[in-house]
Amino acid sequence: MEQKRIYLDNAASTQVAPEVVEAMLPYFTEHCAVASSQFSHTPGIMVKEALDRARAVIAARIGAKPEEFIFTSGGTEASNLAIKGAAYANRKKGNHIITSKIEQLSVLQPCRSLEKEGFSVTYLNVDREGFVDPDELKRAIRPETILVTIQTVNQEVGTIQNIKELGRICRERGVLFHTDAELALGWLPFDVEEANIDLASFSGHKLHGPKGIGGLFVREGVKLKRLLDGGYNEFELRAGTENVPGAVGFAKAVELFKPEDSQYVQELRDYLIEGLLQIEDAELNGPRGERRHPGNVNISFAFAEGESIVLHLDMKGIAVITGSACFSRALEPSHVLLAMGYSHERAHSSIRYTLSRYNTREELDRTVEATREVVEQLRRISPLKQERRRGGR
Ligand SMILES: *Cc1c(COP(=O)(O)O)cnc(C)c1O
Repeated sequence: MEQKRIYLDNAASTQVAPEVVEAMLPYFTEHCAVASSQFSHTPGIMVKEALDRARAVIAARIGAKPEEFIFTSGGTEASNLAIKGAAYANRKKGNHIITSKIEQLSVLQPCRSLEKEGFSVTYLNVDREGFVDPDELKRAIRPETILVTIQTVNQEVGTIQNIKELGRICRERGVLFHTDAELALGWLPFDVEEANIDLASFSGHKLHGPKGIGGLFVREGVKLKRLLDGGYNEFELRAGTENVPGAVGFAKAVELFKPEDSQYVQELRDYLIEGLLQIEDAELNGPRGERRHPGNVNISFAFAEGESIVLHLDMKGIAVITGSACFSRALEPSHVLLAMGYSHERAHSSIRYTLSRYNTREELDRTVEATREVVEQLRRISPLKQERRRGGR
């Protein structure tokens, strides 16, 4: 009998919780009105109320006021709106933006686009574990700096930045602070007041909500130029009919996600790390303990190609990735691991396993065994390994 597939790519997307699907269903069928019909008819009022309830739930979870949270089509749109919107709105004040070298594409590409339009962008280095040095941020801020955008959690190695400190530095200098917080919401305590955040991007599908819905926290008083024209929705910051089923599902996913879930996944994470590090020449990329995302495991297996490991594990029914999903198509080594100071070889032999509350220890036992088999098999045919063995004699 074929064994059940094991899905370990939860930083890319997660399974939608059954309770979330349940909560969304009526908004596809009987509640089909648009929120802007609230002034015309009862179905419109009911939909508007559902949207407001969803907004209130998510805003409360991040310590914001409901009117400070706008729904978008996802994390990518939220970061585009935050970065380009803030840049265009503050053009008269200055043209300098600061980010880090390890951001996700939804932050890096808007920054690149702005550079082509005459903005200047500083890409901060990170250390061996992926951390931005707050002192380097201080030194990078100039009189013409208008925005700093640094992620809360790294997508590849799970590094959790000290955003409290980074936010404080920005606040003291009167610079806007945006953070890509897609992998933080639900998973970690996250409070926009505590961390002095002005703008933060979120996504529904990283915490067992649906795809195609996300949101942006916009602190009261922060001016953005909107990117989509065509209506007065979402406090006039985003035109277009609201994705009401998505918003309802997103809020349900936030409500369902409990600190115990993160605790459980973190125990699985440490169990998997321990198992995989038993394999010869395996090395952990990124930090350990509380400074690492509860669901992230990233290991390099020297003398084995990440791309080959991924394909062989897939044949065994186990879904993982190498480097970054967005970059692997071009077979380029991960920009994150290179920025952390690792060699091309180490980056090319890295495997990312990302977990969720739906994973089990039994699955991880099978994963460790399968990885060991694949890695040992690949090393037997690896010219690099054979060379080293000969050299060692
Ligand atoms: C998934 C993800 C995004 C993109 O979010 P979408 O909702 O898929 O657009 C951005 N940043 C990080 C860190 C992510 O993990």
